[in-house]
Parts: sequence; structure tokens; C-alpha cells
Amino acid sequence: MRPRQANKAFHFIVNGRPIRVCKPFFVSTLNISDRVIRTVIQKCQNHGVLQNDRRGKHDNHTTTDETLISDIKTFIDSIPRVPSHYTRQTSTREYIDGGKTITDLFNDFKVAQEKNSKPYDQCDLCLQYTNSNAEQKSMIHDKYIAHIKEKKLSRNEKHDDRFKIDDKNKVLVFDMQAEDWGYNFNKTEDKNILSWNDIKVIKVIKSEPFSFYVKTSYNKDAEFEKINVRNKRKKLNPISELTTVKAYTGKQKLGENKKKDLKELLDKNLIPNFYKDFYDTIL
Ligand SMILES: [Zn+2]
Repeated sequence: MRPRQANKAFHFIVNGRPIRVCKPFFVSTLNISDRVIRTVIQKCQNHGVLQNDRRGKHDNHTTTDETLISDIKTFIDSIPRVPSHYTRQTSTREYIDGGKTITDLFNDFKVAQEKNSKPYDQCDLCLQYTNSNAEQKSMIHDKYIAHIKEKKLSRNEKHDDRFKIDDKNKVLVFDMQAEDWGYNFNKTEDKNILSWNDIKVIKVIKSEPFSFYVKTSYNKDAEFEKINVRNKRKKLNPISELTTVKAYTGKQKLGENKKKDLKELLDKNLIPNFYKDFYDTIL
């Protein structure tokens, strides 16, 4: 007789919190077979990171999986929900509109995926290259090849980073917007002008609060360039005398236009009635 198999629980991590789902939902959402699940469980290490894929290297596989998983995350994030403090005091869970079943959600996801089935995640340069004729292609060829190389290197880097995850090393994945950075720090110590779009790696050292380091390539031979954050012409206080000023001291009021838009969305039932009480408290 074989020993009874241990029970498995299936979770999607949403905003850092595991949401338990049933196996059929898990399997159909990821479009994977039972065998995949068994292999993953076998190969999983302490920190929940999958071992190196030992099959022949097909870059396409990982790309598709990563894109699909990120699509799933985006979709789950897009489901309207109310934080627990609004419904129940004691729980950190969030609640989605009770009007939808898991099957509804899965169908919504399928529809969303079909809508998004454009050549996905192509950046401007890749799209430009795809749409170019032979002559145009040759003109941007070098730039394009360098871009593809960096793309590969960046994936490798992300992959390698994930294997370093432990109690002291974290991997955070997020999109960065240049707008949030401001353009004050676009000069390196060697007076090179940097475009923010070209920055690939940023290094911050705790003991050097007034500078940070950047690389414009993932290439292992690329060297960090230093950027000074402080304006040297101005006299500035030493760090021990710096105090941070709170950007906000109270709850932020919504602008009149934003309120108008939200009211309209409620009136048109585009925001489900389920949330009306909540919006009434902020409008
Ligand atoms: Zn691209």
C-alpha cells in the first residue's frame, strides 16, 4: 500500500497575502497539468523558490509563464474589493463583491486575456523594429540588438536574484516611472549626462546617504557611475541635523472634479452599488 498523499493547499499571492483557491481554479487559471504541480512541489526549496529548470533552455517558456502570471496578478488586483476595516474589524482580508462567483471571475479573466492578445508587452523599440522594412531595420539594427541583449540579461538577473532570497535578501518587483524621480540627478560624478531611460541598475549604500550608483547595462563588465544627490553650491545641513517633514498632516480631500467623476460612476452603476456606503463617506 502506498502512503496517503499529503493534502495540498493552493494559493495565489495577492498584495503579499496568500488567497486560498481550490485546485481546479488554480490549475485552470495557470493552464497547467497535475504533473506540473507535482514537479513544483518536489523541487521547491525552503523559501518557496523553484529550483533551476533542468530541461533544455527554451527562453519562450519562462517568458510566457511570467507574462501569464503577471497578467493573473494584474487581473486579481483589478477586482474591486473593500478593505477589511470597512467590513470586519479583526481581519486583514479584503472582500470582493459578493455578486461574482469564481467561475464568473475566471470567465472575466479569459475575456480580458482575449482583449489583450495584442503582441504583448512590446516596447516602442521592439514594435518599431517589427513594423520596419529591411532598410529601416538596418538603420536601428545595432540599437535593437543591444536592446534584446539587455532584455535577456535583465531576465537572467531577475532569475538569479530570486535564488538569493533568504532572511536578509529580498526581491521586490515593480514598475518605475521616470516622472516620480524628477530630473535633478541626471549628471554623474564624471559629468556624464544620463538619460533615466538608460539606467539599468541602481545601487544605494547605507553609509553614503548623499549619493547613489547607476549602471547603464546589465553586462557584468559595466561599471557603476556615481551620482551625487546634494547640490554642492548650496550650503546644506549635515545628515544628523536633517529632519523629515511630513508631506501630509491629515486625510487628503478629493478634488471637486474627482468627486464629480466618482459620483457619475456610481450613478451609472459602473461602480457596483455594493460600495455605495463606502463612497458616501468620502464624497
Ligand atoms: Zn523591447
